Amino acid sequence: MKNENFTEEKICPFCGQIYTARPAVSRKDGETLICPDCGIREALTGLGIDWEEQEKILETIHKSI
Ligand SMILES: [Zn+2]
Repeated sequence: MKNENFTEEKICPFCGQIYTARPAVSRKDGETLICPDCGIREALTGLGIDWEEQEKILETIHKSI
């Protein structure tokens, strides 16, 4: 038995990255599935954090996982 829900490769429509993690739902339309990184980016954008700062935050998150 395989748990395909969490190992299936998906392509993020925003950044084109192939990912296997649980997708995030885009805030833009509430239904598009995006990669976790883009989910974080959207959340940070919503907080008014600029792109450069978002990159630093994502880098920190990736290091800590
Ligand atoms: Zn993405």
